Amino acid sequence: MSRCSTKNILAAAAIMACISAGIALPAKGLANLPDDPAGILRKPVPDKLVVLTFDDSPASHATIVAPLLKAMGFGGTFYVCDFDSFKTRKDWYMTFRQMKALADAGFEIGNHTKVV
Ligand SMILES: [Zn+2]
Repeated sequence: MSRCSTKNILAAAAIMACISAGIALPAKGLANLPDDPAGILRKPVPDKLVVLTFDDSPASHATIVAPLLKAMGFGGTFYVCDFDSFKTRKDWYMTFRQMKALADAGFEIGNHTKVV
């Protein structure tokens, strides 16, 4: 079984299509929010936006991908996970210290759903 469900991949593709087309995505429940103090939810989507996301938190994301992105001036979001093998194969996955270092370097860290 794939770690990324088809449903999630299709949802991500739909979001990417909307973002690349410059379509503002309605946030569920956003109309009920009295304010957006961080100015995040109602920012206009820039033209020609590309969103770089990385999945499953292999160690190479911290050792290879992030340094390359940083050197080229790109940001990115790393979706980290808690697979069963995370506890036994620490050499395969980023450590919490590496995740913290990515966040400190300005990358976004997101939660990856667990597929059982
Ligand atoms: Zn995944």
